[in-house]
Amino acid sequence: MDSIDYQMAQVLDIQMETAAIKSYLFTCVESKIFRFSPGQFNMIGLPGVGEAAISFSSLAIPGSNQFTHTIAGVGNVTRFLERLEIGRRVLFRGPFGRGWPIEEIIGKDLLIVAGGIGLAPLRSFLFYCLENRNRIRDVVLVYGARTTDDMVFAKDLADWQARDDIETIYCVDQYNKESSLRLQVGLVTRFLEKLELDYRNTLAFLCGPEIMMRFVARNLLFQGYAGDQIYVSLERRMRCGTGHCGHCQIGAKFVCQDGPVFQYSDISRFADTLL
Ligand SMILES: Cc1cc2nc3c(=O)[nH]c(=O)nc-3n(C[C@H](O)[C@H](O)[C@H](O)COP(=O)(O)OP(=O)(O)OC[C@H]3O[C@@H](n4cnc5c(N)ncnc54)[C@H](O)[C@@H]3O)c2cc1C
Repeated sequence: MDSIDYQMAQVLDIQMETAAIKSYLFTCVESKIFRFSPGQFNMIGLPGVGEAAISFSSLAIPGSNQFTHTIAGVGNVTRFLERLEIGRRVLFRGPFGRGWPIEEIIGKDLLIVAGGIGLAPLRSFLFYCLENRNRIRDVVLVYGARTTDDMVFAKDLADWQARDDIETIYCVDQYNKESSLRLQVGLVTRFLEKLELDYRNTLAFLCGPEIMMRFVARNLLFQGYAGDQIYVSLERRMRCGTGHCGHCQIGAKFVCQDGPVFQYSDISRFADTLL
């Protein structure tokens, strides 16, 4: 089915991530198989409510028609979606966009830096990396959230921290509650310089609030990373998802089609990105 056609998805399961964020396991009602890549997104909603761009937080399972979206209720569409119950149906179009460059990671060290719900599109990428663990070198995940209560994917965070083939640094601005995770207090940028990665062989992947990505990218450039070693996932208001309406245009690029994942060197020259 072409990605511009609407499809129907049914909610199979719901997981509370934080007080304001939930993950929804969907199944495609009409298609037996649904393929997508880490970093891509769907436009999801209902007529009369509207549509929002939402990333895949799960990895596609070969031969399966299921996918997970992790959603924070901030406006019309996402507040509608957060009221969905198991068994309810919504419309979606997708998958859209260029995701994380999974073909580039072989033989590299990977630095993954996520903030808040920005871990959602990087979670699917991390699952991909761990499935291909013997083909890549060191993997470091730096994840920051405002408080302990704002950390998403608690079970995955614990699983990753328990592994010895991935280094995890989890930090909070404010340590407001006991946690079974090993946590540090401070912004993600504080921990970047202490990492023992060889920047010449490392690719960095960033997703989170734009201000976080801006300071992380600048920190990495200062350490010697080149702009094309840094990948960022951008959020822009989207309508069509197919590069026609121009809502998500920055400079000559359409975030929906050329992105949402960009090399820092591709977008840093555009004045209307904050990066
Ligand atoms: C490629 C891409 C992937 C995305 N993936 C996800 C995802 O996986 N999960 C998810 O929850 N969201 C995701 N978003 C963000 C989501 O598409 C927007 O938040 C969207 O605007 C929500 O639509 P809405 O109608 O609910 O809110 P709107 O009506 O568009 O916004 C309502 C109010 O909320 C504010 N607002 C909008 N977005 C945010 C935000 N992110 N944080 C705080 N305030 C905001 C607006 O400025 C406005 O004041 C993604 C966006 C892009 C471009």
